[in-house]
Amino acid sequence: MKKLTLSFDNGPSPEATPGVLDCLRARGIEASFFVSAKDILDEASRALVRRTKNEGHRIGNHTYSHAVILGETSDPEAPAKEIGEAQNVLGGLGEADRLFRPYGGGGIIGPTLFSRGAIDYLCQGGYTCVLWNSVPRDWEDTAGWPERALDDIRRLDWTLMVLHDIATGAMAQLPRFLELLGQEQEEIQIVQDFPPGCVPIVRGRILGDLEPMVADPLG
Ligand SMILES: [Zn+2]
Repeated sequence: MKKLTLSFDNGPSPEATPGVLDCLRARGIEASFFVSAKDILDEASRALVRRTKNEGHRIGNHTYSHAVILGETSDPEAPAKEIGEAQNVLGGLGEADRLFRPYGGGGIIGPTLFSRGAIDYLCQGGYTCVLWNSVPRDWEDTAGWPERALDDIRRLDWTLMVLHDIATGAMAQLPRFLELLGQEQEEIQIVQDFPPGCVPIVRGRILGDLEPMVADPLG
């Protein structure tokens, strides 16, 4: 049986997140939401994240500013600000595993994702780094992304998909996407845990090959 893990980045947004939560709750689906600290500084946004957490979803750190590419910046303080300060803002909304998803600038997994300093920071802080293997680019093709998402699911044994609960209109297709899933020939189990290949750091321990994702490789 194939597996699918759903994750939602860049929220919360009052236009998209409540509808996503309603849709998931109606179907008994638990997912993960990666939020940027800059977007959860006000009480209304924090209330939405609290609701998300209370409904069984996991909340992760998706950087402070969602603007600094860790593998490209020359600022030595970037890991402390983008990872550490963001985790402080998350506070009790986060979880013991300290889920962190880097800002990928379009979803590409490559040497811009991390610097050596960022990796050290994640390890010393006991973070769990959650990447992805499917980005159906819902923000570009707000009506047609479900079909592209299905292509990924057919190709992979265990898909960790990145969608975005922001006001693009794309999340209006979420119910249709979940309906299409149910029509697939092969049964697809929706799970909340992450495929091991997408989690190269677990609670500060490096378990995967990070070299292709680091700007300044060893030696
Ligand atoms: Zn993002």
